[in-house]
Amino acid sequence: MNNTLLTDHREDFPLLKQFDAAYLDNAATSQKPQCVIDAEKNFYEKLNSNPLRGFYDLSLAATDAYENARESVRRFIGAKSTKEIIFTANATSAINLAAYSYGLSNIGSNDRIVVSIAEHHSNMLPWQMVAAKTGAELEYMKCGKQGEFSDEEIDRCITSNTRLVAIAAVSNVTGACAPIQKIIAAAHSFGAVVMLDGAQSVPHMKTDVQELDADFLAFSAHKMMGPMGVGVLYGKQELLEKMPPFLTGGEMIESVRLDGATYAQLPHKFEAGTVNAAGAAALDAAIKYYEKIGIDNMEQREQYLTKYAFDGLSQIPHVNIIGSSDSSNHTGILSFTIDGVHPHDVSAVLNDDKICIRAGHHCAQPLLAHLGVRSSSRASLMFYNTTEEIDKFLASVASVRKLMGYRE
Ligand code: PMP
Repeated sequence: MNNTLLTDHREDFPLLKQFDAAYLDNAATSQKPQCVIDAEKNFYEKLNSNPLRGFYDLSLAATDAYENARESVRRFIGAKSTKEIIFTANATSAINLAAYSYGLSNIGSNDRIVVSIAEHHSNMLPWQMVAAKTGAELEYMKCGKQGEFSDEEIDRCITSNTRLVAIAAVSNVTGACAPIQKIIAAAHSFGAVVMLDGAQSVPHMKTDVQELDADFLAFSAHKMMGPMGVGVLYGKQELLEKMPPFLTGGEMIESVRLDGATYAQLPHKFEAGTVNAAGAAALDAAIKYYEKIGIDNMEQREQYLTKYAFDGLSQIPHVNIIGSSDSSNHTGILSFTIDGVHPHDVSAVLNDDKICIRAGHHCAQPLLAHLGVRSSSRASLMFYNTTEEIDKFLASVASVRKLMGYRE
C-alpha cells in the first residue's frame, strides 16, 4: 500500500488528537488543522482592525490578510481573476446572492429555471423564490435510484427557454457526482447559466472553474477545514459586472449622493458591511494546508476509505445503502437505512459507541421523497479518518437491530 493511502495526518488536528470518538460527520462540517485555528487567532492577536477602511498600517495589514485569502481561493479553484471571488457567510448565502441579484434581474415569466431534485434546500429554495417572484417556470431534473442523471432527463429539462440550471456537483445524500460537464454544455447551448453547488465537491476533489466553464460556484469554508462563517461565490466576471448589488451599505460604494450611489468595483460591490477577515485568513491557511498535502492525495485516501466502508456496510444484513451500488460513486458519503429502525435510533446507538454520524433528512427532503425514503443515517469521510474508525462504525451498525430487539 502506498504512503498516500496510509497517511492520515491526524497529528495536525487538535480535536482528533484528544477525541476518543470516531468523527464521521464530515459532510456536515470538517475538523480544523492547527494551522487554521492559529491563523484565526493570529488575526485577532496581531492584525485586528477593520480591513478595507483604515489608512494606518494595522488596517492595511488586515486588508492584506483578507485580500491574500481571496488570491488563495482564486488559485484553489482556478478562477481567472480575484474580481470573480466574492466572500460570503457560507454556501447558502452565496447561492442567495446569485438568486437575488442574478436571478431576479435576468429571469422572466417566459423563462424556465431547472433545479435538480437532488439539491440541498440551499440550492433549491432560492430558485423557488426566484420562480415565485418572476413567474418563471420551475422544472425539476430527476435522478434515478442510484442518484444518477440520464442524458434523456438532461435533454428533457434543459430547453431553449431555460435561463438557469441549479445543480450540486456532489449530492450530500447519495454522494454521487452529477454529470456537470454535460449539464453545463447543455445549458450553455441555450444561453443559460449554471449555479454549481460545490459544498460537497470543492473540499474533496480538484475543481477548476475555467476548465468546467462554470458560471457560478458556491461553497463553504467550514466543510474544507476552514472556519465557520465564511463562504465563497465564484462568478464569471462578465456576469458579476452586470449584476446589481444584493446587499447595500458600507464598503460596497464608490460614492453616495442623496439621490443614489455609485457602487464599488468587483468584488467589493457584493461585500457590504464589515467583512469576516479573520475567517478569510483562516480559510487561506486551510487552502495552504490542502496545497501542502495535495488534494489529489486526500481524494485518493478518501476513495480508499470509502470503498472499505462501503464493502463492509454492504455485507451487513438489513442495511440498505442509498445511491450507487458502486463505491466509487459515493465520494466519501454513505447514507443508509436499517430495516425496522429509525435513523435517530441508529444515531443514538452509534453515539453510545462513540461514533458521530448524521441522521435525518439532510436538508434534502424532496430527494428523499423521490427516493422513497423518509430519513436516513449518513456517515461521511475525510482523509483523516482511519480504517480502525470504520471498523468501529461497522461493528456498531451491525449491532443495532439486536439492540432494538430483533432476533436477526
Ligand atoms: N449544499 C450542499 C450540497 C450541502 O451539503 C450544504 C451543507 N450541508 C449546503 C449546500 C449548505 O452549506 P452551508 O450550511 O455551509 O451554507
